[in-house]
Amino acid sequence: MRTYLIINKMYYKFSTYLKKTYGQKVYKIPINAQVTCPNRDGNKDTTGCIFCSEEGTAFESFKNHVPIKKQLLKNMAYIGEKYNAKKFIAYFQNYSNTYLPLDKFTKNIKEVIHPDIVAIYIATRPDCIDEKQLLFLSEISKQHKLDIVIEMGLQSTKNSTLTFLNRHHTYEDFVTSTNLIKSYGLKVCAHMINDLPNETIGDVINSAKQLSYLKVDQVKCHSLYILNNTKLGEMYNDNLIKMGTIDEFIMKTIGFLENLNKNIVVQRLIGRAPKEKTLFCNYGRNWRYIVNQIENIMLKENIIQGSKIENNEEGIHQK
Ligand code: SF4
Repeated sequence: MRTYLIINKMYYKFSTYLKKTYGQKVYKIPINAQVTCPNRDGNKDTTGCIFCSEEGTAFESFKNHVPIKKQLLKNMAYIGEKYNAKKFIAYFQNYSNTYLPLDKFTKNIKEVIHPDIVAIYIATRPDCIDEKQLLFLSEISKQHKLDIVIEMGLQSTKNSTLTFLNRHHTYEDFVTSTNLIKSYGLKVCAHMINDLPNETIGDVINSAKQLSYLKVDQVKCHSLYILNNTKLGEMYNDNLIKMGTIDEFIMKTIGFLENLNKNIVVQRLIGRAPKEKTLFCNYGRNWRYIVNQIENIMLKENIIQGSKIENNEEGIHQK
């Protein structure tokens, strides 16, 4: 019990944040809306990011032809019963959920307003942020007392890495969008990958410092999944990229946390992908095993989130 309490103080876990903010456990409900992405529909590219599969980034949600309200209510009933949950977050998970005309976007959002929904989380790209949508969201937020979090895929703050990943946006796009979103009283979460090929621990630490300097509200980290039928999968099979070791990933994640402001909520340190679709995922280990390893090292070495940046408020941008 004592160890559990100490671990909860080592980094700002999402579960701690939810309990503190809503006074109870809150569960995310994935929503799969009918949206696409400018990196897939030909606006910026047709092939997408090198790690992205045809089905986008959601593995656990309903198909997108199921009406949003139905997805929400069915999942709330299922998760509510399974975990005795009373409050939920509607999470627009797949593709770029702000890459829509204003009327379609507002219609989607209105579908998830419900007395048991305490927050709406919206996944998108840093180059798909629209001020009219932000204004609408800030009004909805005040009117229904909802927290709104825009989750932007960033993966790295290093522009040469973003080019390698075929992201078709820059770190500067992320900075501009973060400042705009926050100016409307909404929150920002950055999605990060902490073991990208060719990135050193110094690059990962620099990303954490940048996000701290920018005062993002949350981060969601994972390791790089290499999926079948992706450009990255081809590169992996052709030995054009080399993944590091699990120990390197663990040390990079710890370095990231040490350099991340202690007020930034960590939604997660590692994710999950279906085994049958991946060529490489979480170093062949269970995600819980890796989180335990990270927490055990932090505990043993007395490492706490943000301990390395207390006197270092400045971001150092690298090209
Ligand atoms: S921005 Fe997201 S949805 Fe679009 S191609 Fe990249 S990972 Fe896939």
